[in-house]
Amino acid sequence: MSPSTAVNSIAKSGARLPPLPTIRDLVRLYKLRAIKQLSQNFLMDERLTNKIVRAAGNIADNHVLEVGPGPGGITRSIIRMFPRQLVVVEKDRRFLPTLQLLSEASKELLQMDVVCGDILDYRTGDAFPDCPRTDWQGKRAPVHIIGNLPFAISTRLLINWLREMSLQTGAWSYGRSSLTLTFQKEVAERIVAPILAENRCRLSVMNQIWSRAEMKFLIPGKAFVPKPDVDVGVVTIIPLKKPLTTVHFDVVEKVIRHIFSMRQKYCRRGVENLYPPERRDELTELTFRMADVDPLARSFQLSTEECLRIAEAYDELIRFNPGMEHYNYRAPKQFVEEV
Ligand code: SAM
Repeated sequence: MSPSTAVNSIAKSGARLPPLPTIRDLVRLYKLRAIKQLSQNFLMDERLTNKIVRAAGNIADNHVLEVGPGPGGITRSIIRMFPRQLVVVEKDRRFLPTLQLLSEASKELLQMDVVCGDILDYRTGDAFPDCPRTDWQGKRAPVHIIGNLPFAISTRLLINWLREMSLQTGAWSYGRSSLTLTFQKEVAERIVAPILAENRCRLSVMNQIWSRAEMKFLIPGKAFVPKPDVDVGVVTIIPLKKPLTTVHFDVVEKVIRHIFSMRQKYCRRGVENLYPPERRDELTELTFRMADVDPLARSFQLSTEECLRIAEAYDELIRFNPGMEHYNYRAPKQFVEEV
């Protein structure tokens, strides 16, 4: 019997988690007060946690990494979808007993590993040693990252993951792994913002170069305990088979960051700062000529392709001007001792 048939037959035979205390009871039992510094806003409503997991698509027999499981609401919804392996990474030790309980209770159904640590340091490429590598040009990898993210680090995490996606390392060493994540509504809207949208920014362009991001649905702030000041958007991010550029992520990120650094001004103003003052005018003009982009456009008026043409022109110029790639207009001026 193939693993997926086995999984389906378990599902059909009605195998499920043994009775467990509700998440609300567990939070009360262990006196788990939310810690603001860890962006803890818990989801207790099973219909919502199921909906988040369903947004990831069919995860049966797949490998799942859950970020910040907390008391385990989404974790239970994941388990009920019968993945083959589930790794949860939680920084707050207070949740370990409840997560261990869940791991023990589900051991007939799947392998669940509880990792106590910081997701920013976690090496996703080592999480699923049994997971086969899939061809980037073929089907999506059977790997999913799911999480009701801690807001405080969500943008940083996303940029880190996009970098790994572009280099096909970490979770993307298995192939085209997908992300299903919550963000503050404003951030979610920025991620999917098209050209000319008021909230188009660095995140929109960076995402659209390497992935297809989709806003699935919104969750009102009042669904969380404690209630955050904002509503939340659930976004799925699927890597593109053919990313829109072959330029290195770090170069693209630097250029896009500069382009969007002065949103209300001509995009030329941000690009100028890529170059040292003594060659600024000359190289900025050359960049826009090579890219065939209007230097007087505002950054949100630029298409993803135009942003990329600017990055590609910069990439070429720094190759002819060694050392220039390290220029940082924000770096403190070097102190020159007067003699
Ligand atoms: N998944 C739970 C839910 O939906 O109810 C909790 C979500 S809560 C918004 C974010 C969770 O991420 C918390 O459990 C918090 O302790 C955890 N967390 C915060 N920073 C983290 C980090 N750097 N690494 C891993 N987990 C982190």
